[in-house]
Amino acid sequence: MNNFIFLGPPGAGKGSLAVKVAEDYKIPHISTGDIFRANIKNQTPLGVKVKAIIDSGSLVSDDLTCELVKDRLSQPDCKNGYILDGFPRTIPQAEMFTKICDDVKVVNFEIKDEIVIRRLSTRRVCKACGANFNVLTLPPKVEGVCDKCGGELYQRDDDKQESILHRMDVYREQTEPLIKFYRDKGAITDLDASIETDVLLGKFKEIFKK
Ligand code: ADP
Ligand code: ZN
Repeated sequence: MNNFIFLGPPGAGKGSLAVKVAEDYKIPHISTGDIFRANIKNQTPLGVKVKAIIDSGSLVSDDLTCELVKDRLSQPDCKNGYILDGFPRTIPQAEMFTKICDDVKVVNFEIKDEIVIRRLSTRRVCKACGANFNVLTLPPKVEGVCDKCGGELYQRDDDKQESILHRMDVYREQTEPLIKFYRDKGAITDLDASIETDVLLGKFKEIFKK
């Protein structure tokens, strides 16, 4: 079964690789961050509730997040596998997830702090479709405009310096313990995430045959 968890610090490139793997393996890319951001954009009750937390770089509550993920995984497109990007992010979330699925491959994105800070502070995101760009490494053809849909590019509030440092602390305290949690289960594969996304995809495909 191709059920994947992409685990790693913010800015490790989980989302960028997930987009490509999803296309290649024909499985959905489920990013809890993207789902929350879509709710914020549409000003749903959930979006209104989580906006301030997310902008500051803190985590949404485990209960809310787990409900959201359970609901998403019950959709028919998940039956042949999926990529979870940004979930689980805490031990209670991982414990909850074990109850839904105990056959998962965890990919651990390894990357240095300096690279993460550089990538996040130069990231730009499309307001309309969520596509990611980078002013240094992946600039759009026209400055400030999405190549894919023509939407406006912006900097996420949580990609501003203060929130970046806070997110890295949150990662270290709450998410990093998951590496041991899954290592003990024998479910982890480590990937060097400092390399370019297409090269990373090649490595991924060598390790995880379809
Ligand atoms: P990153 O670029 O840090 O990987 P994401 O897009 O995955 O960012 O998440 C953005 C924000 O959404 C997080 O900082 C957090 O506030 C919230 N969030 C996303 N996934 C979770 C989760 N599993 N549990 C709690 N909060 C989450
Ligand atoms: Zn776009």
